[in-house]
Amino acid sequence: MDAALGDMELLMKIRFVLTAAAAIAFTSSAMAAAPQHWSYEGAGGPTHWGELSAKFEACETGMDQSPVDLTHAVKAEPSAINFHWKKDADWTVVNNGHSIQANSDDAGYLTLDGKDYKLAQFHFHTPSEHAIDGKRFPMEVHFVNVAKDGEFAVIGAMIEGGGDNTLFDAVMDSAPAKEGGSAEIGKSDPASLLGSKDSFYRYEGSLTTPPCSQTVVWTVMKDPLKVSDAEIEKFQNLYHMNARPLQEIGRRFILEK
Ligand SMILES: [Zn+2]
Repeated sequence: MDAALGDMELLMKIRFVLTAAAAIAFTSSAMAAAPQHWSYEGAGGPTHWGELSAKFEACETGMDQSPVDLTHAVKAEPSAINFHWKKDADWTVVNNGHSIQANSDDAGYLTLDGKDYKLAQFHFHTPSEHAIDGKRFPMEVHFVNVAKDGEFAVIGAMIEGGGDNTLFDAVMDSAPAKEGGSAEIGKSDPASLLGSKDSFYRYEGSLTTPPCSQTVVWTVMKDPLKVSDAEIEKFQNLYHMNARPLQEIGRRFILEK
């Protein structure tokens, strides 16, 4: 009996050592694969993004970065966008550690200058990342549309209080408090988060988050969307500041319609 128990104990010990070794191996491989940590304040903040990874170089050296102050725009006829977004797409709201974002696999697309860009997600910043004539708004929504070649057409819209918006309520009411959390909000019309699409600014820029890729055609709507102040507060309780500072416009032109 004693001998058998001894064998059992030995087996248990071996099993424990093997499990611990596997756990360590798993942890180190997970750490190696983890994305470079970046944030909006402190050592991982925007002025350091370019130093965090070779892949983030454009954040520091790029000459066509976003966001910018939308001012001194040239009155012109920028190419129109043909929206083919689905009114009844299914959306999953996630907390990705940088913002609250709604993802969809099948939300339609838009066409700009003869090129199709698939709507992949929309997410929020506070305060607004872009400014209009020097003024920043309480929030900004970004609709990220991606072409087959990996280039982006991002639609931005300013958000302010004093109104009500059903989709905004649905996203903020279901926004997971914990990073990595997700929630289904069902079928919704993404265009209901845009006000009038008649007047907008257009310029060539970048992603406003690492890796700051300069492959974005920006369209920022002039008319702000009005939502309820309480729902803005819900977002700001999760993310009190997730906006990159304004970048130099440099040699670029801003077109205005
Ligand atoms: Zn954004």
